[in-house]
Amino acid sequence: MFKNIVIISIVLFCSIGYSQTKQNVKYVFLFIGDGMGLNQIYTTEMYLNAKTGEIKAEKLLMNSFPVSSNMTNYSANSFVTTSCAAATAMSSGFKTNNGIIGKSPDQEIAYENISEKVKKAGLKVGILSSVTIDHATPASFYAHQNSRNMYYEISMELPNYNIDYFGGGGFHSPKGKNGDQPDAYVNAVKKGYTIANSHEEFNKLKHGDEKIIAINPDMYPSGEFYWAIDKKEEALTLADFTKKGIEVMDNDKGFFMMVEGGKIDWACHGNDGVTMIHEVLAFNDAVRVAYEFYKERPDETLIIVTADHETGSLYTGINYEMNPELLKYQKTSVQEFKRKMTELKDANPEVSFDSILDLIQVDFGLGNSEVGLSLDGNELDMLKLAYSKQFKENNKVNADANYLSINTVKSISETAAYILNKKAGISWGSGDHSATPVPVKVIGYGQGEFSEGFDNTDLSKKIQKLMGV
Ligand SMILES: [Zn+2]
Repeated sequence: MFKNIVIISIVLFCSIGYSQTKQNVKYVFLFIGDGMGLNQIYTTEMYLNAKTGEIKAEKLLMNSFPVSSNMTNYSANSFVTTSCAAATAMSSGFKTNNGIIGKSPDQEIAYENISEKVKKAGLKVGILSSVTIDHATPASFYAHQNSRNMYYEISMELPNYNIDYFGGGGFHSPKGKNGDQPDAYVNAVKKGYTIANSHEEFNKLKHGDEKIIAINPDMYPSGEFYWAIDKKEEALTLADFTKKGIEVMDNDKGFFMMVEGGKIDWACHGNDGVTMIHEVLAFNDAVRVAYEFYKERPDETLIIVTADHETGSLYTGINYEMNPELLKYQKTSVQEFKRKMTELKDANPEVSFDSILDLIQVDFGLGNSEVGLSLDGNELDMLKLAYSKQFKENNKVNADANYLSINTVKSISETAAYILNKKAGISWGSGDHSATPVPVKVIGYGQGEFSEGFDNTDLSKKIQKLMGV
């Protein structure tokens, strides 16, 4: 009898001990590819392997994860969500209206988000993005504001939660809309944050550093990364910021890290397929950094890769055909080619259509019959029309225009991308978000929780449950 009790006690002790050590996941990575639907991922995979006549796609790391499901993402007031409403649902477990950050639809209640809960439980939190860290998605993981456009208010709120590591772009408007407000960077420093915005300062960041805002030294003046397709060799990537985040925050209790690939969405708003592909690849590189960490600690780590919504209603296939190998001839983003055109016009307004065609061939391959990219009469007419509008009618094409704004003039650059996309077999239904559910790819401790389709409000609840916060 005594022996039996001893055995039962040992078994009980062991199972309790086991469940205690296995109870919570310590390290959680939530990767959000803004605007990244299934077709964005699959187009990238077709592009990776693309060879003429070969029907084969190369799997991205995120697609090799054992759990693959999907997530609905409607907001409180529309089937078609915006990033802030979707990110609020993913961070807090509650729906809100499009446009609102971290608050209820009536703007009365500030939702408690996962970052606050994780901090309360004594773990560390990192928030990363390839766009500004006060942009809709990252902001929804710390801020509570009536509008996503209140960038200044969001950046002033950012240091209030002792979040350990911010990484990526800077602030959108650190001195307010009119540039006459107290500086948001100074405010962050006053609240104990260290700003690292040079390569040297970034490299110096080390294990145990707290309250860090690491900003990419090589980015657009508006605070987002350069496009991955245009990136300079030495520029820091989302993967670099993820790696640094792990180095800075690694600790025995654990951490939660949200990493946003913010410009996938922007490229899709601009219907720039190849630029989108390069953004997905850069995002996948950041996922790889987390995956390397996971391999060291598979029983304590969970990686979730998903999106807030799909952007652009991307279609794959025209007349039962895809020629993804043609996409390899685009060498620059639509935005950078626009800039080239604007500079050219300033330098030489009389530039001929033929010279423009030469430049289009260099950057988009169009006109090169040897690679299957000859232009037919229709396509030449489209380009000529864009050329006349841009060079002859004095229509302004702003190279720095935010992709979220509507550009009424279809520039030469946008027209070239449109033609190349079509030849490759991809087309776009809109320049906006769509209502389609988004993919979810998961690996690690607790992965089974995500194996069946769910709503974006459940994502936060599932992570909280697994982390025990
Ligand atoms: Zn968007």
